Amino acid sequence: MAHDDSLEILVERNDAPVSDADRAKLLENPGFGNLFTDHMAVIRYTEGQGWHDAKITARAPIPMDPASSVLHYAQEIFEGMKAYRLADGTTALFRPEQNARRFQSSAQRMAMPELPESVFLKSVEALVDIDRDWFPSAEGGSLYLRPFMFASEVFLGVRPAKEYLYMVIASPVGAYFKAGASAITIWVSKDYTRAAPGGTGAAKCGGNYAASLVAQAEAIDQNCDQVVFLDAAEQRWVEELGGMNLFFVMDDGRLITPPLTGTILPGITRESIMTLAREEGLVVSEEPYSIDQWRTDAASGKLRETFACGTAAVVTAVGTVRSEDDEFTIGGGGPGQLTEKLRMRLVDIQRGLAEDKHGWVKRLF
Ligand SMILES: *Cc1c(COP(=O)(O)O)cnc(C)c1O
Repeated sequence: MAHDDSLEILVERNDAPVSDADRAKLLENPGFGNLFTDHMAVIRYTEGQGWHDAKITARAPIPMDPASSVLHYAQEIFEGMKAYRLADGTTALFRPEQNARRFQSSAQRMAMPELPESVFLKSVEALVDIDRDWFPSAEGGSLYLRPFMFASEVFLGVRPAKEYLYMVIASPVGAYFKAGASAITIWVSKDYTRAAPGGTGAAKCGGNYAASLVAQAEAIDQNCDQVVFLDAAEQRWVEELGGMNLFFVMDDGRLITPPLTGTILPGITRESIMTLAREEGLVVSEEPYSIDQWRTDAASGKLRETFACGTAAVVTAVGTVRSEDDEFTIGGGGPGQLTEKLRMRLVDIQRGLAEDKHGWVKRLF
């Protein structure tokens, strides 16, 4: 639709927002993903008409017909991004245009309409603006933003839907992993894989998460924090965690991360870390890394550190890797020096404490 780019977003203020006192109390300890702001963004899509009825409105349940096609065939995609309050009081997003573009490629893979980049950005910015009083007071807190889109057409036939709902909700968040967790333990899934060649591994869709949950439950049973998936074809190559990309710090100055072959989600944190690591003089190599190599290199000391990264948890050290057969520890089992350095470099840029050479920080107000 030619007019999508100029779509106006109507703003309807919530006339019964959370009181200042209640909000202040809630924001003291927001946790992760439990608390939501007063508003949401909504835009509808109808085939033949394009995107329409864009608005910011009071956050509320959405009426849904039981035959809405997302409930049956899972045509759904999402994004995850954060708005930060910078040291100087400015509010900013981190590389939001990357989220907008990834949302479009996820839509393509799931046979859904693409939301124009400018509309995606406008909707997110308008929500942050109206809910600007919802930033957590605690250090390290941010406003987590969840744009998503699903097939809302009331139809049980199997084909791409003709109607969609795009929405953005916001959740004030603290740290993703429990405080004090300095390095995580991960479980190697042997029975389950996350994504196969030709599948949807590179799309940010709810279905990938649905498929990963039984493995994640197994990880929790095994006293692990997260699950690591191996490739579906050979059960040999390390791919990623359920929602985070992986990096391996070698003793020869190389930083290895699995290549984007279509089964791995192209993380924006991953890409940012690769850039920062190169600036630190590391040789970044996107190459397949096997579970056997991982074990061998951890034992020999050739592997110094392993870390996972993503918007929610930023950069998290992996201390221990556990499987049905064995368990191994990386380095001293805690966060390594380079993990810590890269994490700080990224966080400092995100928080406006370090120079933003690459124009990653988009200041809003
Ligand atoms: C969102 C996500 C990531 C991390 O992506 P970021 O853009 O860095 O937040 C990694 N893996 C999966 C499966 C994801 O869904």
